[in-house]
Amino acid sequence: MIPASGSYQLSNARVHRSLTPGLAASYDADGFALADIAVADGKISSIVAHGKSKTPADAIDLGGRIVLPCFVDCHTHIDKGHIWPRKPNPDGTFMGALNATGSDRTARWGAEDVARRMDFSLRSAYVHGTKAVRTHLDSVPPQEEISWPVFEAMREKWRGRIDLQAACLLGIEGVRDKAWFERLVKRVAAAKGVLGVVTYMLPDLEELLDQVFAQAIKHGLDLDFHADETEDVSAISLKKIAEASLWNGFDGNILVGHCCSLSRQPDLEVLDTLDKVAKARLAVVSLPMCNLYLQDRRNNGTTPRWRGVTLLHEMRARGIKVAVASDNTRDPFYAYGDLDMLEVYRMGTRILHFDHPVGDWPKAVAATPAEVMRLDGVGTLAPGGSADFIVFKGRSWTELLSRPESDRIVVRDGRAIERKLPDYAELDELMVG
Ligand SMILES: [Zn+2]
Repeated sequence: MIPASGSYQLSNARVHRSLTPGLAASYDADGFALADIAVADGKISSIVAHGKSKTPADAIDLGGRIVLPCFVDCHTHIDKGHIWPRKPNPDGTFMGALNATGSDRTARWGAEDVARRMDFSLRSAYVHGTKAVRTHLDSVPPQEEISWPVFEAMREKWRGRIDLQAACLLGIEGVRDKAWFERLVKRVAAAKGVLGVVTYMLPDLEELLDQVFAQAIKHGLDLDFHADETEDVSAISLKKIAEASLWNGFDGNILVGHCCSLSRQPDLEVLDTLDKVAKARLAVVSLPMCNLYLQDRRNNGTTPRWRGVTLLHEMRARGIKVAVASDNTRDPFYAYGDLDMLEVYRMGTRILHFDHPVGDWPKAVAATPAEVMRLDGVGTLAPGGSADFIVFKGRSWTELLSRPESDRIVVRDGRAIERKLPDYAELDELMVG
């Protein structure tokens, strides 16, 4: 359908208001409008409301199929991805995940093992229509010496297809070893990475956060936290991060993932936290599939009663930037997943109610994570931008989100890419015990 060379026009494309800044069109209640998209030299040369200008005779009529910009996945763990067959989670709990992953990392995460699994993940993400990925990299010694060079090589290999970013991942108690932490920060800065830690309610949390912010300021790094991935109502590290950002006068980007316990806390506590999160301009990413899997896991013959996700609606209402992302794929933290952001959006719609109305929720998988990751011109459809978009079969939300859309067309720089998912059998030799 998409020509292999030359310029062309797609007519009758269904585009969404939240992802087409500047397009004057009459949008329906679902936020959709029909548009004609012209593509030349790998870029979108124009987008106009359908019927506003004369359609060329050779235009490709999409018949109202939905066209979205390529996805941005701002929270993944592709260094952990796909280890499930050799290291499953024995009981589906968070502690089960932590212990299983730790022992697999110590025993098996050489450079080739990490590189091959990362590449497998990126191939899947690319085929599903993702253009940019941020991964966390387990950075407890000695893994940081192995994984950061692998990341740098992988970023080069994928340049032009996937913008790959990395954030270090360690429990914040690791910051207590000041000399080692400073070395890690320098390594991250040298790789143009992002400074990331996991926060818990430690007695010295505020002091440790101050050290993290001091290093981020010193090296000009953005921050990315895992916070409060628990049902424990006393977990309020999201608030602590916001307070630390304010009193340190931090002006970089901060992304905070999970924040599960927030949805279990009393309203007054929640309001105070959200005020501070908004004031500190934190962005929040929810990981709905991983949260559904790990949170409220009971293992006592009873059924989970809560979804595990954070308060995205309340955050969005206060102007806090909100995103959803893949998180783990086929590892002890989440047994499933394939870095398909359409699946994440579909699951987000079901778990978090991104519907009735849909409003601007589609930004949560495209424009908003692109802003957080400082990717200019990514995650929207606009004249002058790269012709990077996905043509779906669905013509409405109910059609788009009811089927896997395995036959979607992914267009990069104006051309349809070959969409062949990697075969799991490729990883078999890495999985032998
Ligand atoms: Zn994560």
